[in-house]
Amino acid sequence: IAEFVTLHHSSGRVFENVPTGLFINNEFVPSKSGKKFDTIDPNTGNVIMSVYEADASDVNVAVEAAKKGFEQWSKISPRERSDLLYKLAELIYRDREILAGIEAYDNGKPYSQFVVLMDEYMIQALGADLNFVVEHFKYFAGAADKLNHGRHIDIREGVHAYTRPEPYGVVGQIVPWNFPLLMLTWKIAPALAAGNAVVLKTSEKTPLSALKLAQLIVEAGFPPGVVNFLSGFGPSAGDAIARHPDIHKVSFTGSTATGRKILAASAESNLKKVSLELGGKSPNVVFNDAKLDEAILACRVGYSFNQGQVCCAGTRVFVQEGIYDEFIARLKEDAAKIKVGNSFDADTDVGPLVDKLQFDRVLSYVEEGKKAGAHLEFGGHRIGTEGYYVSPTIFSNVHEDMKIVKEEIFGPVIVIDKFSTLEDGIAKANNTEFGLAASVHTTNVSTYVRAANGIQAGTIWVNTHNQLYAGIPFGGYKLSGHGRDGGYEALQEYTQLKSVYVAL
Ligand code: NAD
Repeated sequence: IAEFVTLHHSSGRVFENVPTGLFINNEFVPSKSGKKFDTIDPNTGNVIMSVYEADASDVNVAVEAAKKGFEQWSKISPRERSDLLYKLAELIYRDREILAGIEAYDNGKPYSQFVVLMDEYMIQALGADLNFVVEHFKYFAGAADKLNHGRHIDIREGVHAYTRPEPYGVVGQIVPWNFPLLMLTWKIAPALAAGNAVVLKTSEKTPLSALKLAQLIVEAGFPPGVVNFLSGFGPSAGDAIARHPDIHKVSFTGSTATGRKILAASAESNLKKVSLELGGKSPNVVFNDAKLDEAILACRVGYSFNQGQVCCAGTRVFVQEGIYDEFIARLKEDAAKIKVGNSFDADTDVGPLVDKLQFDRVLSYVEEGKKAGAHLEFGGHRIGTEGYYVSPTIFSNVHEDMKIVKEEIFGPVIVIDKFSTLEDGIAKANNTEFGLAASVHTTNVSTYVRAANGIQAGTIWVNTHNQLYAGIPFGGYKLSGHGRDGGYEALQEYTQLKSVYVAL
């Protein structure tokens, strides 16, 4: 059994009993190699603690545990599976302050500042992340005993046929660091509800919240092996999951570059089914008749929520000619009000970026934009002398060929351009290889319907940005991936369909 540590945070918070081990078979165990890696506090750059690092041999152990876990999980009725998922949701709600605290510590997201989503105020790690986590477990707990049990057809006299959705068995899942617990929840809640066992690899940048959640999985009473979490790196543990012969489905959330590797690994191994939730460069299209206060707010949420480290961040803003100058002036005024600071300060809107790599990457995009001739309207610099804080950053005078316009930056940076007609706005919004999400701001019904129909993206928000709900599917068009998290569609991602013909 691996050791547990107690963390004393500078805010006075104490996180007790944090596991260091890999979570396999309902136990926290050292990796086979005994190797560990450090996880870093983005507010200071200091090491928080180290955890065991899984490699391919640990993936094999976890898959064997999951195979046994699946046998047990299959014998449990859907009603009881539903009860266990509800129980887990309740325990997460009970421990939400611990989980949100660990998440803010490890990832840097603000712990408790309010963020405005439409007309509703959400608290960041505590609200936005933890509320959605609880909502997701409850939604899929409710779905576990209401799965579509297929179709029955009398084909002709003496022949009956029916379809039967079945779980894959052991499902492999790989998640990113921007919403560590929420992305994990998007994966495991529907997979478990559909009857699978899971082997999930967390991001090497943010392993801690999953390990705290694992303790609640044991407390809730899940059978051993049904849920397994591995801390580790992509090219070793991640690749081993993507290639494992006994995993027939892998679900991945992360960058488009890694998504290609997962698909290739599947093609080169056992052709496992693959769902990919990938990157984005989502447009925010603001028409002359938009309510400006709301549009500015949606824009702010679009590029600054979670430090801009959001797959569906609204990072390309297109403003119609009639309001362009006023919009930029007001957006700059708004940016000046955004408070960048320590994740645990009560008035922080935007915390540090997740690590030094991401910090350097975002600032290098800023330099690249300046060199390419874009006009820096606001920000574009580091804040403070320690930690990875970057100011909200606004560029105008951009061109479609610039890297800051084409590539996902994953920081609080937006580029603004103008458009003339509805058709021009739609064309500019679609001028990207991504297609994850988009928002449209207008008070005209015809404009919003045409824009929502015309923009190629998996999610369209009208007069809002970043709204999500467990019962509504989320996923990409184009290079933003295929497959859906959320809703009934997520359950379908975790079942395969059998057709049975019966001669009577
Ligand atoms: P990433 O692709 O670098 O890593 C994601 C995960 O994949 C990590 O766990 C990593 O260890 C693993 N990985 C890396 N190389 C691997 C390999 N060769 N084989 C198997 N696994 C490997 O992405 P990131 O930097 O962690 O996350 C940011 C990206 O995630 C952004 O592009 C963002 O848009 C995307 N994202 C998408 C969604 C969505 O729902 N579409 C949600 C959140 C984040």
